Amino acid sequence: MLQKSNPYMRQSNLIGGEWVKADSGATLDVTNPANGQKLGTVPKSGKAETRRAIEAADKAFKTFKKTTANERSKMLRKLHDLILENQDALAELLTLEQGKSLAEAKGEVGASAAYILWFAEEARRTYGDVVPSPWADRRIIVTREPVGVIAAITPWNFPSSMLARKIGPAIAAGCTTVVKPASQTPYSGLAWGVLCEEAGIPAGVVNILTGSAGEIGDEICANPMVKKITFTGSTEVGKILIEKSAATVKKVSMELGGNAPFVVFDDADIDRAVEGAMVAKYRNSGQTCVCTNRFFVQAGVYDAFVEKFAAASAKLKVGAGLDAGVQQGPLIDGKAVEKVEELIGDATAKGGKVVTGGKRHELGGSFFEPTVIAGATPDMRFMKEEIFGPVAPVFRFETEEEAVALANDTEYGLACYFYSSDLGRVFRVMENLKYGMVGVNEGLITTPEAPFGGVKESGLGREGGHQGIEDYLDTKYVCIGGL
Ligand code: ADP
Repeated sequence: MLQKSNPYMRQSNLIGGEWVKADSGATLDVTNPANGQKLGTVPKSGKAETRRAIEAADKAFKTFKKTTANERSKMLRKLHDLILENQDALAELLTLEQGKSLAEAKGEVGASAAYILWFAEEARRTYGDVVPSPWADRRIIVTREPVGVIAAITPWNFPSSMLARKIGPAIAAGCTTVVKPASQTPYSGLAWGVLCEEAGIPAGVVNILTGSAGEIGDEICANPMVKKITFTGSTEVGKILIEKSAATVKKVSMELGGNAPFVVFDDADIDRAVEGAMVAKYRNSGQTCVCTNRFFVQAGVYDAFVEKFAAASAKLKVGAGLDAGVQQGPLIDGKAVEKVEELIGDATAKGGKVVTGGKRHELGGSFFEPTVIAGATPDMRFMKEEIFGPVAPVFRFETEEEAVALANDTEYGLACYFYSSDLGRVFRVMENLKYGMVGVNEGLITTPEAPFGGVKESGLGREGGHQGIEDYLDTKYVCIGGL
């Protein structure tokens, strides 16, 4: 249990402005991945609770859609201020349930605030159009209206900021929401309920419930009151949600898996590339969908890059996220550790060489050593599979064409990175990479001002940027005749 109480920790669902338990009284345990200790419980909700949350959101929508953009913008600004005023408490809760270092947790909470502020600003810019009419006696007007009830399902790796990117545009557009956070990290999700109440966001606008993913997901997909699903998580679950929501033709926004390549050309600034590689690989202990999965390094700089990258990796401080100076927290659970071990075993059996790390950390539990593997080849499993852990396979290549072909050889298309100082090559490669986001000489590119999202099986839609509010708005064409 928590040592001291955290003002943002709630162990109930928020439905229509009431904090309530599951109908059956059943609960799920929530544990701290740094030590396996129980932090508390959350309701194990199912279809009935989900239906009530949807009904509460639908009821609230009837009045919330009539608020002005300026009113909603003010609510979001208040929400932003509250997040920053309580950044430490929110970050502590995040680290306790998720494991990431306190510094990273504070960063994530700061990012949540930044997204909310961005959408507070965007709320007032959902312009429509007046279109030149082909008829002398008619006018053409195009307006934007809130979609309605939105269901948001989020993962455990960024339990705070993934909701900022969904709740923010929903409120900005005038939509209401039903939120289901991941069962491993529900408290950062439920904390949004407390924050929204404090910010004066009306009851029923944000409803949050925890519990059975399958039951909650099925009700969300089947219920015609839900007009849109916004999901961040695995491609596998995303496909299920797309398929099931076809029955009620919902809008879908999907932020799914990635298999990010990080390409270093002979003409790159190697020290800069190593610096970028460290963030692009080890942020959140490698557990982000934009984390590098495959490093491709040109033959001329291969050995130098591997040596410097391995040396920097070996220096990372691994430990419990709340401990001072820690840079790498534990992995989310034992299954994540087993997956990483399997992938390393597969690589070494096929000739890969562990340059640093390679095994469970001496701290035990789900701590793992930052690992660099040289001599990676396309027949190894991490060419196709998401690692989601602190393991960096480094492949060698000879030509630009080969690098681009290897980088694109995946069904995913979320983020990619490459390092080069040749201007012509920068443009050629940037244009040939089939990805939604490209970091050129940069390893960390996410920001509220830019559209985050993928192509191919990495997803549909964008979060952030001026595009981030689009999927929360319907377009209405009005033809006024008889002038
Ligand atoms: P991850 O591998 O990151 O845990 P998942 O896609 O399994 O990704 O989970 C992301 C979110 O989707 C979590 O909130 C999880 O509970 C939820 N989820 C998992 N399975 C389903 C499902 N069948 N229907 C709806 N939501 C689901």
